[in-house]
Amino acid sequence: MADIIQLLPDHVANQIAAGEVVQRPASVVKELLENAIDAGASKIKLIIKDAGKTLIQVIDDGKGMSVTDARLSFERHATSKIRSAEDLFQLDTKGFRGEALASIAAIAHVELKTKQEGDDVGTSIVIEGSEVRDQEVIVTPKGTSVSVKNLFFNIPARRNFLKSNAVELRHVIDEFHRVALAHCNISFTMYNNGSESFNLPVGNYRQRIVNIFGNKTNEKLVPVEEDTEVLKISGFVGKPEYAKKTRGEQYFFVNNRFIKSAYLNHAIASAFDGLLKNGTHASYFLNLTVDPQTIDINIHPTKTEIKFDDEHTLYALLRSAVKHSLGQFNIAPVLDFERDSSLDTPYNFNKKSTSAPAIEVDKSFNPFQDEGRTNTGTSTKSVSFKKEPAANWESLYVGLESKSNSEPQDFSEVHFESEESTASMFDDDNSVEQVQTTYQLHSKYIVSTIKSGMLVIDQHRAHQRVLYEDFLKNMTIKEAVSQQLLFPLQLHFSVQEIQILNQLKEDLEHTGFVFSNVLKESIEITGVPISVPESEVSIILEQLISDVENEVPDAHFSATDLLAKSMAKSLAIKTGQSLQKDEQEHLVNKLFACKEPNVSPTNKTTFITMSVDELDKKFI
Ligand code: ADP
Ligand code: MG
Repeated sequence: MADIIQLLPDHVANQIAAGEVVQRPASVVKELLENAIDAGASKIKLIIKDAGKTLIQVIDDGKGMSVTDARLSFERHATSKIRSAEDLFQLDTKGFRGEALASIAAIAHVELKTKQEGDDVGTSIVIEGSEVRDQEVIVTPKGTSVSVKNLFFNIPARRNFLKSNAVELRHVIDEFHRVALAHCNISFTMYNNGSESFNLPVGNYRQRIVNIFGNKTNEKLVPVEEDTEVLKISGFVGKPEYAKKTRGEQYFFVNNRFIKSAYLNHAIASAFDGLLKNGTHASYFLNLTVDPQTIDINIHPTKTEIKFDDEHTLYALLRSAVKHSLGQFNIAPVLDFERDSSLDTPYNFNKKSTSAPAIEVDKSFNPFQDEGRTNTGTSTKSVSFKKEPAANWESLYVGLESKSNSEPQDFSEVHFESEESTASMFDDDNSVEQVQTTYQLHSKYIVSTIKSGMLVIDQHRAHQRVLYEDFLKNMTIKEAVSQQLLFPLQLHFSVQEIQILNQLKEDLEHTGFVFSNVLKESIEITGVPISVPESEVSIILEQLISDVENEVPDAHFSATDLLAKSMAKSLAIKTGQSLQKDEQEHLVNKLFACKEPNVSPTNKTTFITMSVDELDKKFI
């Protein structure tokens, strides 16, 4: 049989390699910025158009390339950074694989302009889909400029796979931040669609962080410093009270390279143990310096994961350094801060004090007592019933009926009592049948009786549904009621966050917010929606911003909807909150007055029912 194996032509091999190195515009940004840093640049400029889909350009004032090198730089495995395998363990550059430019040139239109110090003229090379189209001698300043246009022009599937500009730009900015945070001795600027987004002058690490994330960040930072033989740690962690709901501001750099490490992240999380509110994540900006011999960066083409020789020690050192800082700055009591012992056994669960299982008892839950009350009809006051107008229960019934067409199964079991009987539901009728009331279970569920059996409502989700529909209504009829604040509320945000708020301003106003002033890094609020306590305003807006940032906009993306969802999520009664009887009943009424009572705004079940038949079966 004939031989069938062939060597792939270079341009095909390059395209395949590009699949690993270049996933999206942000990957190109990373590679070009890293090349500029490796070239010893002191000023780096990033220019982006259409989130990098049309143009990504990086201009540096680094050492530039000779004519031959300029041409060679686009060859695969062509690098000036290592010469032998041993060099891999002495790396002090970002790049070393010699793949980036070759890969990028295989899938885009690339123009390189470069000149070395002392040379009179430089070189320009135009290369498209791995083919050199043009090479010229040009006059250009010292340094290098690489423009990458029409990314994935020859791989339509990849191009179509790219996300919206908002999402791709987010990735580009993330990458820019990572590189800029790792090199505060280099000045960076970024332009997006012609306007300046970031201007980061040379400064210390704290200044760099503040320049990127806004002035308000300054007061949040707690320094972390540690110098041992195996590891040097420097940087900052965010004070626990500023912990974010998203993992946004978490940065590890190892020898000035941004890396992702769930393991080291865990070390920090454990140093914050007990200091963070549930569901929040500490911010950190930490630089680890280790001997390059003790790490292997070569395990991932994008070089964001690295292997440490002695991860356990790093874990312990990092954890104790962070703990120590939090303690020193009076953020945490310096309890059991024992550096050495934790060093020996970083994962020492033996020493972890055991905590008794928490048993939550709802003290107010006493079915017998309540039954008795209703039966005798004497002490209804202490139960504090608030009689809801029967009309509410009626609307509950109507809502369900209209819904039941589409989802008959869900509701086949829910037979609410008819109007007459619901009207008597709260009457002090002596009949045992009429013990209609609600109970709260574990400060989480509201249990209520219905004709066919019982109803269990998730209070948090149910309230989200109620608020969500309220907000949506207000925003669409644009008739929200606002409460005037006595003193204007001044809130600080980063430039980027303000941009997001600006986009949502109009919708926010329809919910009842009144903005009196929107500045570069702060806003002034003079009115808030009736349902929003003043103290919650900043939390709600932060949550909103992070929801917008994380939302992957698709065809159905609507700012109004997102805003309503986000605010409902922030303001809804939380799990763990105990509710008065009248509050419970009010919530039940409101839920069933909703258009879609059966799911939360994020499509999670809000209630379940269990019929007497089903209960009976359990007692067989
Ligand atoms: P790597 O960075 O892994 O070496 P690249 O494909 O990114 O591989 O770059 C290939 C080579 O081109 C580099 O080793 C370097 O010598 C040269 N080069 C790339 N970008 C620049 C730049 N901005 N300034 C100077 N030289 C550069
Ligand atoms: Mg490189």
